[in-house]
Amino acid sequence: MSSGNESLRQKILIVDDTPANIEILYSILKGAYDVLFAKNGGDAIRIVQQQLPDLILLDIMMPGMDGYQVCRVLKADPLTAKIPIIFVTAMSKEEDEAMGLQSGAIDYLTKPISPPIVLARVRNHLQLKRNSDLLEQLTAQLEEKNRALEVLARVDGLTGVANRRHFDETLRLEVQRAMRNGRYLSLILCDIDFFKNYNDHYGHVAGDKCLQSFGELLQGSFKRAGEVPARYGGEEFAVVLPDSRPEIAEGLGERLRRMLQEKALPHEASELGVVTVSVGVSGGLVARGQDAEWFIKEADRALYLAKSGGRNRVALSSQCAPESGDSHEGYGDPCEPEHDLVKLTGYGA
Ligand code: GH3
Ligand code: MG
Ligand code: MG
Repeated sequence: MSSGNESLRQKILIVDDTPANIEILYSILKGAYDVLFAKNGGDAIRIVQQQLPDLILLDIMMPGMDGYQVCRVLKADPLTAKIPIIFVTAMSKEEDEAMGLQSGAIDYLTKPISPPIVLARVRNHLQLKRNSDLLEQLTAQLEEKNRALEVLARVDGLTGVANRRHFDETLRLEVQRAMRNGRYLSLILCDIDFFKNYNDHYGHVAGDKCLQSFGELLQGSFKRAGEVPARYGGEEFAVVLPDSRPEIAEGLGERLRRMLQEKALPHEASELGVVTVSVGVSGGLVARGQDAEWFIKEADRALYLAKSGGRNRVALSSQCAPESGDSHEGYGDPCEPEHDLVKLTGYGA
């Protein structure tokens, strides 16, 4: 019957073409370890691959593959490379030992062996192996936790969309990328209408649930590669839309506005009867001097106009940089110089 302790016993493989040598080592080690053996290099490699022992005691002079070759094969395979190998050999010259250690072995013992020294060295190397296995395991766990933390650091806890920090970083990078490559970039900024009233009427917990519903809608509506829906703060959300013309972003904003309205989440404290959102859109070809703040400022300006125009609507602010834009060739019409157009779409517009 196997006890719990037995499964923790470490496994040692003895490789020697002389059965008498195997027997000596076996008698020294059998009390503390599970012992496997092989009489030639080929069998040794097969057993190592199948059983993954914790340590290998390896003879050098063997017919066929010698110990050096076995050692090199095992060290070249990532599956077996980390298993410590101790040469146990009659070859006692300095250069033999040097070659053994150079081929990847961790230690070198010469025959005739001394049982207490063999046992002590085996124990030391197994302890080191156990520690390094543990370290590897802990490192892997830590890496996994770090990955999870990285995700948490980018995600808004309430709604599951990107948080403000991730939004800021994304917008900054996308502005740089669009400028470098002469591409369009658009930004949608949206703000739930009469949300203070919603909280006052239904309570803060219901308010949180409403924000979660909107987060889901946003996440479901902007799934294309590169699109980053985010919580900008409070009941304001934003979407970075790389490679999108502002008119396209405006259409997407309008779709979002309509979808929320069609969800018909009751809002008795709103003039509109249901939860609605106002949307501001900015965008264009990114010219020198335009930075992330420019996109936010313009979208915010459009959002203000959507609010003051009656809410539950989309406003597009398109203000092109005063640059003739030869770097923009191939990406649509050149911008009109410094014009200031705000267009309203949606409910009541
Ligand atoms: P408007 O139509 O002009 O946008 O009016 P509003 O009431 O939506 O805007 P206002 O800025 O006056 O109020 C925003 C409200 O959003 C106030 C604040 O308590 C609420 N709010 C912000 N963050 C949260 C949150 O995480 N949970 C809940 N439940 N409410 C929030
Ligand atoms: Mg607000
Ligand atoms: Mg609001």
